[in-house]
Amino acid sequence: MLVRPNCPLLNMPNMHRRTVRHILAALGVSLGVSLGFSLALPAAVAAQGRPLPTDDPSVKKGMDNIKSWNAWILEQQVGLCEIPAPPFKETARGLEFRKRIAALGYPQAKIDSIGNVIVERPGTGNGPTVMIAGHLDTVFPEGTDVKVKKTGDRYDAPGIGDDCRGLAVVLSVAKALNEGAIKTTGKVILVANVGEEGPGDLRGVRYMFGGAYKGKVDYFISVDGLGIHVTDRAVGSKRYSVKFTGPGGHSYGAFGMPSAIHAMGRAIANISDLQVPSGAKTTFNVGIVKGGTSVNTISPDGTMDVDMRSESVTNLDEMDKRIQDAIAKGLAAENARWPNSKAKIAVKYDTIGIRPVGKVPQTEATPIVATALAAGKALGQTKVETGASSTDSNIPMSLGIQAITIGGGGSGGGAHAITEWYQDGPEGYKGPQWALLLVAALAGMPKSITP
Ligand SMILES: [Zn+2]
Repeated sequence: MLVRPNCPLLNMPNMHRRTVRHILAALGVSLGVSLGFSLALPAAVAAQGRPLPTDDPSVKKGMDNIKSWNAWILEQQVGLCEIPAPPFKETARGLEFRKRIAALGYPQAKIDSIGNVIVERPGTGNGPTVMIAGHLDTVFPEGTDVKVKKTGDRYDAPGIGDDCRGLAVVLSVAKALNEGAIKTTGKVILVANVGEEGPGDLRGVRYMFGGAYKGKVDYFISVDGLGIHVTDRAVGSKRYSVKFTGPGGHSYGAFGMPSAIHAMGRAIANISDLQVPSGAKTTFNVGIVKGGTSVNTISPDGTMDVDMRSESVTNLDEMDKRIQDAIAKGLAAENARWPNSKAKIAVKYDTIGIRPVGKVPQTEATPIVATALAAGKALGQTKVETGASSTDSNIPMSLGIQAITIGGGGSGGGAHAITEWYQDGPEGYKGPQWALLLVAALAGMPKSITP
């Protein structure tokens, strides 16, 4: 692009320059001409959403199509859900997703080296690049019964909402774009990614944004969860496994030596009593404990998995410090309890996952959020709730990219439990309609960038 050497935009990170270019494009301004960049963009421009192409005949057709395809959309959701996708074992579901999206007129669908299914749909111009993604993985281990039980418009199965609904929404957007011949000026990238859930630690999206798509995506939408809801702030997390070890011994014969399990117990007691820092919501949890050999063995090992979360970097770091302190005190107390023993308990930390806090909160004044809220209103939703969560959007948000997570419509409950359920209700189709309208608005329609 042509930018004058004294342009202040030269000092901005690449993504910001791209975003400014697209805001200007939406105003019918091309950077190909020489502009006086000393003029700051009016704040009001940045605070507005992208134009909604609700009058575009192809988008209108796409929206009607989605409504009429409701049964097909639910079939996609059920069909994909019945293919198990435990953490790190998403291959079978990914292959099926690729088959299904290729059949919608996307023979270019590919699977990258860690298992993300990716389709690039070229734009007609150089509008913003929009990536929309659902995640393939579930939290459920191998052997979980994933057969879907249907009762009226209610579907019961582990993973039916989280995130088979998201995958079905991505497929319906793909189908609507092609069958409605919807032309967007920017590229649309349709994705079914691996590794969103706990142990996956966002590895699918992390891989794309650190590699092939680094600096190449202007807007990111994750479809995860239900209803018409926007996640615009990233809850960051730190998770580690803490292992206590010692020599261990006979519970009677070697009595008088410290125990790994007792040390871990002291640490957990200390953690349980911790206060969280004030301000942004901050949480902690010891979720899994393991260890020991037998009832009559002084334990040589004990392991606990700890999770902490916050929207604030400072709070997350402070919580981390308090937890490590609590663990160190528990360890010291157990070793001090048996001063005559040569045996000592040691502790070792292994990181399970770190999810970054969003660097730039995506507030209602951010174009992607404003566009999503306006698109929700255009579908008759009087109030679209916004909130904070920990999802695939954490990665682009932490990179300063405009990103949100949206619900896929319908309603339900029991996410991450085997009692998970989804109910389509009379307006379930509005989820995929919302996603389509949002993608079209963000990628831009040829008309919307004509002055
Ligand atoms: Zn999910």
